[in-house]
This record gives sequence, structure tokens and C-alpha cells, in this order.
Amino acid sequence: MSDLLSRVNTDLYIGGKWQPASDGQTIEVRDPATEEVIATVASASEDDGLAAVAAAREALPEWAATPPRDRGEVLRTVFELMTERAEEFAVLMVRENGKALADARAEVLYAAEFFRWFSEEGVRNRGEVLTAPSGRNRILVIHQPIGVSVLVTPWNFPAAMATRKIGPALAAGCTVVLKPASETPLTALAVADLLAEAGAPPGVVNVIPSSRSGPVVSGMLHDPRTRKLSFTGSTEVGRKLLAEAADHVVSTSMELGGNAPFIVFDDADLDAAIEGAMIAKMRNGGEACTAANRFYAQQGIAEEFSRRLSEAMGKVRMGPGLEEGVTLGPLVNRPAVEKVEELVGDAVGSGARVLTGGEAPDGPGYFYPPTVLDRVPPGAAMLKTEIFGPVAPVVTFGTDEEAVALANATEFGLVSYVYTRDLARGLRVSEALESGMVGLNRGLVSDPAAPFGGVKESGIGREGGHEGLLEFLESKYVAVAW
Ligand code: NAP
Repeated sequence: MSDLLSRVNTDLYIGGKWQPASDGQTIEVRDPATEEVIATVASASEDDGLAAVAAAREALPEWAATPPRDRGEVLRTVFELMTERAEEFAVLMVRENGKALADARAEVLYAAEFFRWFSEEGVRNRGEVLTAPSGRNRILVIHQPIGVSVLVTPWNFPAAMATRKIGPALAAGCTVVLKPASETPLTALAVADLLAEAGAPPGVVNVIPSSRSGPVVSGMLHDPRTRKLSFTGSTEVGRKLLAEAADHVVSTSMELGGNAPFIVFDDADLDAAIEGAMIAKMRNGGEACTAANRFYAQQGIAEEFSRRLSEAMGKVRMGPGLEEGVTLGPLVNRPAVEKVEELVGDAVGSGARVLTGGEAPDGPGYFYPPTVLDRVPPGAAMLKTEIFGPVAPVVTFGTDEEAVALANATEFGLVSYVYTRDLARGLRVSEALESGMVGLNRGLVSDPAAPFGGVKESGIGREGGHEGLLEFLESKYVAVAW
């Protein structure tokens, strides 16, 4: 078993140096499977946040002027190091987040891919030249690094949410301050170490876990040296940060909450739909912004779909993430279990039927079993709220129009899933769905080469693809006569 947990540096990483918090405060990191403290990490103060911004600002001119190919080589090296050490990263993530080892292994490879993708994309920062319509001058457009970027990430994908931001920021020539989630700071600190080993100069990447996220992030957003905020987390916190960013008109990219519908039409390949449903629901134990949150099954196949889904869910083995054969680990903490219990209680209280699961086992560990409910009434809270756990509510619908209306009846719009054998129907419905992404006969959309992001209250901006690079660049137009 890896010993990255015993080697990871638990101080703040600022300006290329590891240091304790200026006021000595710390965060305890717990293993969600045992509830035991596995590490104590420095917790940044507001002053530490500002020191990190200062370090990032100092490193900016040189990094922005570094040839794109050289910046790319650093990212490519981190990709290689992370891939070589995938297993120890995976084990570290299981320990601090709880996810099953298979999920953690998949995440490390996905996370590393962002470094490879942006090592390639960073040399493709294209501009534009055109003749002004008047014919009197040329319009020259170039894209320049936006500057010091504050990155704030959630606990559910401790590696990938960080690399999805660091990769494009560094490729674009920006320097960053990363504030990872307090639940899972260790992976981010280990990534900082890899970046240093790969040759990222001091100050280019700074990592500051903090349990005082509100004031620390606010302090950085009110420092005029900060020009970008890239946030992944809940819509509730995202909304607050958008307001804070407004004070200094800081550019924002926001990857927020989801409430993904999973629509299965009568003509779907049910084997494929069940396989896709298991991935869309159970990847990361349901703790994903992309998790299928509401299953809409058409009348003709609804009974069979629910039965087969509950069979598949009933076979999932729950336990500590590192245990052989386990594919569902614990949830991240006690409040997460309580939230799921409340949502299931509400649905059952208003008439839903439990087909499998439905009751949390005794501790230790923050476990909740795979659960399928059918006959879920339209007013149930779980159809409107991110469940963030292994619970699948199934609702029956009649027509295509009804499915689209039900799917769109939410303030969220991150991803939707559609299963049908009729491609024209699938594309028609995909167009009508109000979400930034659609999985058409596919239960997984995440791909470093594709633009990931939401519409409505699921966010602003895209990560991955070429769009991910543009989030860290600003257009400059030069009116030129020659
Ligand atoms: P969260 O509570 O919003 O926290 C996200 C990050 O923001 C953490 O680093 C957190 O720090 C920090 N934070 C909390 N309150 C803050 C404040 N007042 N000011 C500044 N920063 C603050 O979200 P979470 O529970 O970690 O993650 C789950 C959420 O993330 C879900 O809603 C999920 O859908 C969303 N998510 C979205 C995507 C996407 O790409 N759209 C991807 C993954 C997750 P602390 O940990 O110290 O509180």
C-alpha cells in the first residue's frame, strides 16, 4: 500500500516554500470510512491568502513570458509523474475522501489527462487578423494571460477539480493560488509537490488549504492583483462568490451544482440504459455534480427499468474504499448521510416505494447503501435537490414533450442523459434540454478534450477542450494601420 499519506507535505505551499499558517491554525482530515483523523494540515489565514497572491503576482511576468512550449513541457512532465504514481494518488484519495479505489484510480487518470491535454493546447493560442469593414485599418486580436488566478475546488474530485483548473491556467501563462476543500486538502498538496518536481517555478502554483474559506477567499478577491476566480462547488457558495468578485470586477468561471435528469424512452436499448444508469448514478458513489439525480422512464418500460436498476444496485458492494471488491465507499461526512436520509424520508413519506436500500447502517463510517425508489411523486424534495449520494428516484412519463418539460423544470442545467435507439429523437430531445452537456446513449460525459460546464444556475464558462484555455486568456484588439 502506498505511503503518500505519510509523505505528503501538510504545510501551506507559498512562493515555492512550505510553511505553517501564520497564526498556527490547522485542519484535521478524517477518513470517512473510519471517522479517524489521518492528518493535520495547516489552515491558511487571510494574511497567508494575501501572501500567496503576492507570490503569484511576483512570478507572473516571467511565467507569462516563458515560451508556450516550455510551459507545456512542465505540464507534460506532471502528466507523466502523476500517471506513474497513479496508484499512490488513488490510495491517498480513498483515505481522505472515502471513494472506492476503482473510482479513485479512474479519477487520477482523468486528472492527469488535463495536464497532457493543456500541455498540447497551450501552444495553440491563436489570434485573428482581419481588414476593418471601412478598409482603413486592420483589426488584430491577440489573447493574453488574464493574470493571477484564484482557484477554489470541492472535495468530491480532489485531484481532477484541481488539475482541470491548474492545467489551463498554467498553459495560458497565468499563475495561481489554489484553495482546496477542507475535507480533502491532501491530494492538492501532493499535486503541488509534483508541479514543483516537474519544474514549475516558485510562485507559479501556490496551494493554501483553509478552514476559513469565506474570509480567505474574500480577502484574495478584494486584492486588486487577483484578476480571475475559477470556482467549482455548490451554487449557493458560487452565488456569494459572484457577488464578491463583482467588487473588483474579477473575471469568473463557475462550475456549480447539478440536478441531472436521466431519460429512458420506450425504444431504448435497456441493457445499455442500465449500464449507463449505473455509471451516471454510481460513479463516485453519487457524489458528482454530473450524477443522475432523477430517472424518467417512459410508461412502456418503466416497471422493467426500475426492476433491473434495483437489481443492479442491489449487487453493489459497499464498504471501506480500499477493501477488495468494494465499489461503493462511504459518503464524505456525517451531514452528507443526514441529508440523504432526510431526502429519502421525505420521498417515502409522500408515497414513494423503496425497491432496494433505504436505510443507513450503524457506524463507524459515513455509509449509505445503494437505493432505488419508484412511484416518486413530482413534489418530492429529492427531485429538486442534489442528492449527492447513491439514491435513484424513478418517475414515469408518457410523451417526449412531457419528458423534456420534466427535465427542464429546475434552476440547474449541467448535464442530461438520454437513452433511445432513434437518433433523430435523441438529437431533437438533446437540443431541447436546457443543460450545458448531454449524454446521448452514454452515462459519462466528462472528457478533458470536451467543454464541460453548465447553463442556468449550474454555472458560467467551460473547463476542458479549447474553451478551458480561453477562460484564462483575455482578448486584446489592436487597431493597426500599415
Ligand atoms: P462547496 O461547499 O460550495 O465548497 C466548494 C469550495 O468552496 C470548497 O473549497 C469550500 O471550502 C469553499 N467555500 C465554501 N464556502 C465558501 C465561502 N463562503 N467563500 C469562499 N469559499 C467557500 O461545495 P462542496 O460541498 O465542496 O462540493 C459539492 C458541490 O460542488 C456540489 O454542489 C457539486 O455539484 C459541485 N460540483 C460541481 C462541479 C461542476 O463541474 N459543475 C464539479 C464538482 C462539484 P471549505 O471546504 O473549506 O468549506
